[in-house]
Amino acid sequence: MRNWMSLQADFGHFLYRRQVYVFALKMSFLAVIFSGVIIALTIPPLGFLGLLPVTLSHAIGFGAIFSWLVGGTVSGMMSLAAGFAMHELTLSRAEFEKLSRTDTLSGLLNRRAFTEALDRIEGDASLVIFDVDRFKAINDRFGHACGDAVITAVSAVLLSAFDESSVVARLGGEEFGVIVSGEPLEKRLERIQAVQSDIANRPLVADGNHIAITISGGVADLIPGRSKQQVYASADRALYLAKALGRNRVVHEREGLHHAWHGLAETSANTEGRGLGSDNMMQAYGI
Ligand code: GH3
Ligand code: MG
Ligand code: MG
Repeated sequence: MRNWMSLQADFGHFLYRRQVYVFALKMSFLAVIFSGVIIALTIPPLGFLGLLPVTLSHAIGFGAIFSWLVGGTVSGMMSLAAGFAMHELTLSRAEFEKLSRTDTLSGLLNRRAFTEALDRIEGDASLVIFDVDRFKAINDRFGHACGDAVITAVSAVLLSAFDESSVVARLGGEEFGVIVSGEPLEKRLERIQAVQSDIANRPLVADGNHIAITISGGVADLIPGRSKQQVYASADRALYLAKALGRNRVVHEREGLHHAWHGLAETSANTEGRGLGSDNMMQAYGI
């Protein structure tokens, strides 16, 4: 019985008003059944002792009517009041939970929600970390409000580029995380690459300005059995490499290993001169 009662009082059972009415109805039936049991247990002995002011059958009849009228109605009303209070609490809790998982500027999931989603992933998928290139310069040139608008515009592009099976989040600042699943690896990489090129090829409209931006991305693969921290760290290193190679590109973790073995210094010498150097790269990849 206690289990049944506590099940009824679970917050999840009060999300919709209809569930409040069902709860109140159940509670009033329960009250009637209880009163019926009490009447059955108390009235016959009282009648046997001659303490009833009316006949036994009348006493049982009145008891039954009152248990319905008083017990049922009062407990139904009280359950309705309690149910609606629970309903309000459920709604505000759901709202609070949503807010605690949402990034306020972009409306995307925040880092906390992203980490939870990452922990839940079971099959094959790819983790991408995107970062807007030279974002500080955008803030410096157009102002912080415009920087914010760029973040919102990039969020919208990412959200529309990946379908519902993917998870898109703002990890902080001008950094975004995407978990792409549901396709073979090559298709996932194509899609990720396409987003990066798309952003590079058309200026974003932000705060009334047309701003040409580029993004860089680091990709690592989520494979069953591989730790999520490992995958995240590997995607982060691949992003670091994308930046070092001149930005405006997507680097897969495989390429990171390739560059580590063949020496990044030569490659990056022709780009922005921000190469890590092969020794540092090997260190970064723990080789
Ligand atoms: P890189 O290509 O190496 O990523 O260079 P970057 O300039 O994009 O990176 P850096 O980390 O040097 O600068 C990021 C800047 O983003 C610094 C910080 O002031 C700004 N920033 C962080 N969060 C926000 C935000 O919410 N809104 C705005 N407008 N700027 C932000
Ligand atoms: Mg950046
Ligand atoms: Mg950044």
